[in-house]
Amino acid sequence: MSELPPLRTVIARHGLDASKALGQNFLLDEQLLDRIARIPGSLSGETAYEVGPGPGGLTRALMRAGADVVAVERDRRCIPALAELETWKPGVLRVIEGDALEVDEPKTVPGAHVVANLPYNVGTALLVRWLTTADWAPWWKSLTLMFQKEVAERVVAKPGTGAYGRLAVLSQWRSDARLAMTVHRSAFTPPPKVMSAVVHLTPRAAPAEVSVKTLEALTAAAFGQRRKMLRQSVKGLPGAIEALEAVGIEPTRRAETLSVEEFVAVAHAMRR
Ligand code: SAM
Repeated sequence: MSELPPLRTVIARHGLDASKALGQNFLLDEQLLDRIARIPGSLSGETAYEVGPGPGGLTRALMRAGADVVAVERDRRCIPALAELETWKPGVLRVIEGDALEVDEPKTVPGAHVVANLPYNVGTALLVRWLTTADWAPWWKSLTLMFQKEVAERVVAKPGTGAYGRLAVLSQWRSDARLAMTVHRSAFTPPPKVMSAVVHLTPRAAPAEVSVKTLEALTAAAFGQRRKMLRQSVKGLPGAIEALEAVGIEPTRRAETLSVEEFVAVAHAMRR
């Protein structure tokens, strides 16, 4: 296995100036990247699905950790740099040029550990999609995702906190979610304005069965007016008030006081 050039050299050689439009902030510290690659646990013999590899820093770390890596990158400027990694360890890395939102993951990367450092809007859209699959257990074994710290806190938030909302309910209904690491803005090139954090999610074996659509509609309504009592915030949602009564939840409560289990119970009752 030959030595790889430093990531800075790769970036300079391939002209990979960070594009703001693509939300590019690169991580170049190999020790930090190795720590992120360890978050899912041992990747030896596992498949890692990396979304947005950019110049390939995290990709290298995943390959060093012994994973077979499938990486999807939208910025075609990065593809030649990633091709060098494909030849570094033949047969280990497969690069797909394209938009992660268009990948058919159950077919392309079944059973993979997902690892990604993405622009936060794409990251949250993908997280919600991966949590709301029609079938459960999902196609993924774990999700290790870098977000703005504020978004990461919304994923792991507990009831009664300002960060608790739709993202927390959707995340914690079907998975165990934890904040694995905070990353200082200075670790990125160029540094973003805010701090970042990595969340780690593993699927629950038997989450309560409920319609994803109903749960999404309920949480959107309830947290859409989070300062209001539920009887006000969910009154436009057919069956919601009756469901609150059926499961014994006072309609004078506010959304952020309900546990994830209570939201699921209400959504379940709305179906009947
Ligand atoms: N993983 C690299 C790192 O940690 O240094 C790059 C991270 S950078 C924040 C995000 C990367 O995601 C960029 O390379 C960007 O081109 C890519 N990206 C943005 N939107 C994407 C999408 N929809 N599908 C695939 N890649 C995307």
